[in-house]
Amino acid sequence: MFKLLVFAVVAVCLTFVSTAGMGQEVSQQSTALPVVEDVRVSATPERARLVIDLGAMTEFAMVSLDGPDRLAIDVRASSLAVTEPGKVAGQGIVSDFTVEQVASDRVRTILTLAAPAQVQQAYVLDPFEDQPARLVVDVITATPEIFATNVAKDLAATDDIAQLGDKEGSTPAGGSNLPMATNPLVVIDPGHGGIDGGAESPDGVKEKDIVLAFALKLQELLVDSGRFDVALTREGDNYLKLEDRVALARQNKADLFISIHADTFQKSDIRGASIYTRDENATDVLDKILADNENKSDVIAGYSMPRMPPQVVDILVDLMRRETRVQSFKAARDIVHQMEPSVQLRRYPERQADFFVLQSPDVPSILLELGFISNPTDMANLLKVDWRDRTAEAVARGISSYFDSLKADE
Ligand SMILES: [Zn+2]
Repeated sequence: MFKLLVFAVVAVCLTFVSTAGMGQEVSQQSTALPVVEDVRVSATPERARLVIDLGAMTEFAMVSLDGPDRLAIDVRASSLAVTEPGKVAGQGIVSDFTVEQVASDRVRTILTLAAPAQVQQAYVLDPFEDQPARLVVDVITATPEIFATNVAKDLAATDDIAQLGDKEGSTPAGGSNLPMATNPLVVIDPGHGGIDGGAESPDGVKEKDIVLAFALKLQELLVDSGRFDVALTREGDNYLKLEDRVALARQNKADLFISIHADTFQKSDIRGASIYTRDENATDVLDKILADNENKSDVIAGYSMPRMPPQVVDILVDLMRRETRVQSFKAARDIVHQMEPSVQLRRYPERQADFFVLQSPDVPSILLELGFISNPTDMANLLKVDWRDRTAEAVARGISSYFDSLKADE
């Protein structure tokens, strides 16, 4: 069910439709965005109409989603004046709807479909007399085939955009010999490698070696369980760009991406394992420093940071991001839960930071900090084979219970 939604949402990179007439130009920079004043939906068994009252003319975009079947409509708007959840007037092909401000410049309406449907027409009306500007979307019934075609069309459009997003000629190392995923595919990403050693202890033990040994053990446990296909972003001491780590997981449609680290911090009393999920706003200073250090490793190694293509900043990728974020939180929680009894954890072990490798919009992604090389107790543990095995076993149990819970949701 999650999978379906993800694929459905991958579908949906649409550009906003300009409502400007011929020869007119809508400048988003110079024009203040309007308020969404009201949203109304009426439905019969044959058709439905969505009306969005707007403070002024604006742009909109829409898309078909399945699992469950929905139509999502975004308008460019600065705020939402509607506070009460609305009800569909009448009974018919739209059973329910939600309205939400999803970004500072967008308001999203989602129509839940009781039957396959398609947009017949959509247009923005100028204000006249005492009527405000309005977006009108007329929806009519469709065959299941037409609806599926619309969903698929969006999927294809997004595949194109995803390919645009991939840097030319950047084939991730190891990408060619990945297993065909029949089981869920877990991509384990041992941090750093090659010229990028990561953190280093006073006596010269490098993070890149610790995390590779851990990743290989975790891979072995997951493969032995018979439940997972497992790929490593690097299997040896080689350098890999951050963007290639992300691309490997995305191109192979990984079901979970787990990056492994063991960093240092200037305060040597900080210790214990923790798991990060991505957040645009780092939660505290330490998290911010850690994230920045990791993110900078590409720059340090002489590569410039890649830039996200503008298409990726699309409305419906945002929907997918939200769903992926929920799954990432779930995975972090399940793994922490399994680690708790057997491994020393940091205070508040579930954390958020803006690590570059956690940015996949479509792959649930977490970053496991095994402990701190700057803390003597952690460092001693990190070098112990029995500590490593015990911790890897706990993480493997956590991964299993995460996938169990996904199955239970289906
Ligand atoms: Zn690291």
